[in-house]
Amino acid sequence: MIVVMKAQATEEEIRTVVRMVEELEYHANVIRGVERTVIACAGEERGPQHSLAHLEAVSGVERVIPVLKPYKLASREVRPEGSVVDVGGVKIGGRAIIVMAGPCAVESAEQVEQAALAVKRAGAHLLRGGAYKPRTSPYSFQGMEAEGLTLLENAGKKVGLPVVTEIMDPHDIDLFVEHADMLQVGARNAQNFSLLRRLGRIRKPVLLKRGMSTRLEEFLMAAEYVLSEGNPNVVLCERGIRTFETATRNTLDLNAVPMLKQMTHLPVIVDPSHGTGIWSLVKPMALASIAAGADGLLIEVHPKPELALSDGPQQLRPDKFEDLMRAIRPVAEAVGRTL
Ligand code: PEP
Ligand code: MN
Repeated sequence: MIVVMKAQATEEEIRTVVRMVEELEYHANVIRGVERTVIACAGEERGPQHSLAHLEAVSGVERVIPVLKPYKLASREVRPEGSVVDVGGVKIGGRAIIVMAGPCAVESAEQVEQAALAVKRAGAHLLRGGAYKPRTSPYSFQGMEAEGLTLLENAGKKVGLPVVTEIMDPHDIDLFVEHADMLQVGARNAQNFSLLRRLGRIRKPVLLKRGMSTRLEEFLMAAEYVLSEGNPNVVLCERGIRTFETATRNTLDLNAVPMLKQMTHLPVIVDPSHGTGIWSLVKPMALASIAAGADGLLIEVHPKPELALSDGPQQLRPDKFEDLMRAIRPVAEAVGRTL
């Protein structure tokens, strides 16, 4: 259920409703919109919810609406105008298209600095790079781990970009909170519920990537784990799904963009690097993503992709990334966005 407060409801009235919701053993999430506040009531559905419906009689309440979707807090109804997530001052989900870019993996101080300089110069808004890498094989490069986090943080500071990086283990949360501006959950952990719950108890924004075989409803239920623990700062990322097609690494599901936009208020970005696995397909699919309504892009950029320790075939050279940035501007403008 969501309790929609009147536009002129007072703080006292909001507090009273929250208290009444909690007395009914629901968790009250107060969501402050531009015009009005809504209180999303989440909890185990034990019995008839008509007791919440009684709140309509309480002072300051305009309406009580049942949310029929299983993803109560992620549902578009809760915040029809859409959410904006602030990552170190960069706002994802507004009119501006946000681009996060950088190497698949942090490999050395020099490599991550070169990548940071290149993506900053081309106009990226966030630096993204992996320090802890979820590799299919235990014999592949696993990332520089804690040292990589520091190198990424330093490179971001040097060029003036907030940083995004992937967390795999809930035990590392304190370290990540200290060094990163946004924590990525990768496709392989998209339904790691203990990690998601733990990320719900911090305030740092979470970039949740879609699992290779998660349906959109399952994807939103994964986001719901973070939201229901109290962290409202979630951005979704479509990164391709597994299909019968093997010509590309994954099949980038661009249906997901406008579909998610209808289903949820959370910002949605697209990763055409992992979505295609082939550098020459990254630009056309980036353009298509913006045209489909994405709020941003995640692009892998490496100063020398041929020497990359992971995902070499899909990483863009700096000049190709500049070309991509130039090309997306007119598409963004054509769909009423800015870059
Ligand atoms: C990544 O972003 O570097 C990554 C490992 O992607 P995914 O989790 O989408 O495979
Ligand atoms: Mn990668």
